[in-house]
Parts: sequence; C-alpha cells; structure tokens
Amino acid sequence: MSRLFSVFVAFIASFLLIGQAQADVRVLTSIKPLQLIAAAVQDGVAIPEVLLPPGASPHNYALRPSDVRKVQAVDLLYWIGPDMEGFLPRVLNGRTLPSVAVQDLPGMKLRRFAEDSHSHAEEADEHDHDHRPGSLDAHLWLSPVNARVIAEKMAADLSAADPANAERYQSNAKAFDQRLDALDERLKKRLAGVEGKPYFVFHEAFDYFEDAYGLKHAGVFSVAAEVQPGAQHVAAMRTRLQEVGKTCVFSEPPLRPRLAETLVAGLPVKLAELDALGGYTPATAQGYEQVLEKLGNDLAGCLESL
Ligand SMILES: [Zn+2]
Repeated sequence: MSRLFSVFVAFIASFLLIGQAQADVRVLTSIKPLQLIAAAVQDGVAIPEVLLPPGASPHNYALRPSDVRKVQAVDLLYWIGPDMEGFLPRVLNGRTLPSVAVQDLPGMKLRRFAEDSHSHAEEADEHDHDHRPGSLDAHLWLSPVNARVIAEKMAADLSAADPANAERYQSNAKAFDQRLDALDERLKKRLAGVEGKPYFVFHEAFDYFEDAYGLKHAGVFSVAAEVQPGAQHVAAMRTRLQEVGKTCVFSEPPLRPRLAETLVAGLPVKLAELDALGGYTPATAQGYEQVLEKLGNDLAGCLESL
C-alpha cells in the first residue's frame, strides 16, 4: 500500500512538473513597443499578444468586445498608463489578474511636456491628444533606458508566473540589455552628424528619443488629421518653415495630415515619416531595436538629404 502510494505520489509529482514546464503564461500588451519588449524577454518560450492593431493610435483607440474579453483573460497585462491608453482603465476594473502600468515602475525616467509647448494646447478641442503643457509625456518607450526597466519587470513577473522558464527569462532580459548597449552606440554614431539640424513634427511623440540622442525638434505642427486648419494657422506654419529654410517635416504613419503638401509647397522642405509605434514590426526578440533603429535612420536619412 505504501509502495502504491509512493508510485501515486511520483505520478502526481511528474504531472505537476510537466505542467510547470509547459506553463502557458498569456501575456498581453496594449501597444506594439511593449509587445516587442515582452517578445525579447519571452524569446524561445512564447509570443506575447498585442491589443492595438497596426495603424491604430493608442490616444484614441476604441476597444472591441473581443479586446475586452482578451483583457479579462490574459495572465499578465502591460500598458503605459492612463496618460496614454485612456480607453483601458474602464475595462481594467473588471480584471482580477495582475496588470502593470509601466509609467509607475520604479527606475523609469519620465519627462513632462514643456510648459511653453503650447502647440498642442492651442487646439486641444479638435485634437485627439492630451499633450497639455506640464503633463506627463507618455511616449516613454522611445527611451532605451525605460525599455530596460520594463524588460526587467517583465522578466521578474514571468519568472514568478512560470518558474520552470525563469532562467530563460532572466538570460533573455540580460541579452536584451546588452543588445541595447550596442544599439545605443550605433544610434549615437548615426545621429551625431545631424545634431542641431532643424526639423518639425506633426505629433510631439519623440522627445524621449530626442533627449537620449541630443536632438530637438524646431516645432510641432499641431493639426488634427481630419480637420483642415484655418488659412491663418497654415500661413503661420509656413512662416516658421521659411524662417528655418532647408528642413524636414515628419508625419507619423499611417496618416499624413491632408494639409502637409500645401504646407510645404514651393519651400525647400521635405516630407518624411517617423514611426513611433512600429505597428507592423514582427514580434521577435529584435523587434524593439528595429523600431528605434528605423527611427534613427529615417530621421538622419531625411536631414542628411537636405
Ligand atoms: Zn502622442
């Protein structure tokens, strides 16, 4: 009987061990860049899911019923915080499993929109954003320093939820950290040549990246994609461009404001794109680096071609 019992115990134990080794931790992130950081940490174990489809803006996304079900079901959920995904808190109330607003993580380097950056505030009513002067700049994933903090937190959470793969998560996070060092070096080299060259953006999303690499946009053209701004506003923006001379104006895919072409017509100004979200980047371990690398290349590429 005792022998039978020990066989039984061994059977149960092996069952539990197998169960642990195959622990399927479902990770969901709100936006692509967080999915890419999670993909680096989960490399070789599982592929994290992402809520927002490519091209969707986290500033004004509307959740579908299937999104809400996903939010309730996954084991771990990561989002930026209420300053970015204003659509999420409502549904997080119904969630019992852990969710992490990465803007609250200790060690995050956060910045605020400058008190004098009135470009967004001017048209707050017609804008799909909430980039008020002095408010938190929630585009925090564009700083490699913050990406490291997020990856460490994910590795700790995953290790606790799936101890059988803990070593893998930790070594993945360490490898990510080292690749970020290398990326940092490449970006510094790539962007050193364009430091101080003026450029404009339609969306003030890049300040973390700019801070990290010694860049600064000359201005933000605040226009809602669907609204044609008044003639006076367009004239004021054109005056700014004329003052600066040769320059680049960056819109963010997938939308280029309708007035972009009018704005630059006849001026030595190039229109180009900067993709802060990298919505179409495959969820691989190197995805996050690819988004930042593309950002650096697109920025430098346009400014060098002037
Ligand atoms: Zn924004």
